[in-house]
Amino acid sequence: CGIVGYVGPRSAQDTVIDGLRRLEYRGYDSAGVAVVRDGLLAVEKRAGKLANLEKVLIEAPLPRADIGIGHTRWATHGPPNDVNAHPHAGGARRVALVHNGIIENFVELRGRVEADDHVLLSETDTEIVAHLVELQVQSGVDIVTAMQRVCQQLDGAFTLVAIDSHEPDKIVAARRNSPLVVGLGDGENFLGSDVAAFIEFTREALELGQDQIVVMTRDEVLVTDFWGNPVQARQFHVDWDL
Ligand code: GLU
Repeated sequence: CGIVGYVGPRSAQDTVIDGLRRLEYRGYDSAGVAVVRDGLLAVEKRAGKLANLEKVLIEAPLPRADIGIGHTRWATHGPPNDVNAHPHAGGARRVALVHNGIIENFVELRGRVEADDHVLLSETDTEIVAHLVELQVQSGVDIVTAMQRVCQQLDGAFTLVAIDSHEPDKIVAARRNSPLVVGLGDGENFLGSDVAAFIEFTREALELGQDQIVVMTRDEVLVTDFWGNPVQARQFHVDWDL
């Protein structure tokens, strides 16, 4: 439902939670956040209001990190509970991923993942994508190539955002039939399912087109199609008031 991503010098956890709060108007049933610190993934997620997640994070904050992703879920596959909440991780807990939308061919993809001896923890279509992306990076390709290869196999509507704990300087995101915007900062970058996710921090934005992938670090943003060919995303200035 709502998606936020952040890379830069601010606290990733707090910046992501801020963004999720600004997306609350969309409605949701669960919320979660993942960060990478010292090559390790840390994830916290809870069913219910964002306040439930925030309460847990006040008592046990995630490690201070400069990269993070977050999600507010509107369940389509599997009831709203802590396990089905996003982010989802792969089996080796190397990749974390959030997703808006529906993967229509997930039954077929689940067959492939389970044939590979992967145990799925949730009932979501999303967790299968997390496993597929992690399988790719475990086979030796980088997270961007992994996302391209997985997107080529997916049917349906999706905004996907992933981080790989072995490449802790970048966030990769993709979209088809579901929105994704990038917020361009100075030495930091943001992404969201809509500009409300980052308008507090920057008003310079890029709108991703259909079937596009973006990879962003603190200082760089590169947009390609699902086959890695560079494409031009539309840049715009957000001029409406908060
Ligand atoms: N299909 C996914 C799920 O049920 C994502 C739902 C959403 O867009 O929030 O978990």
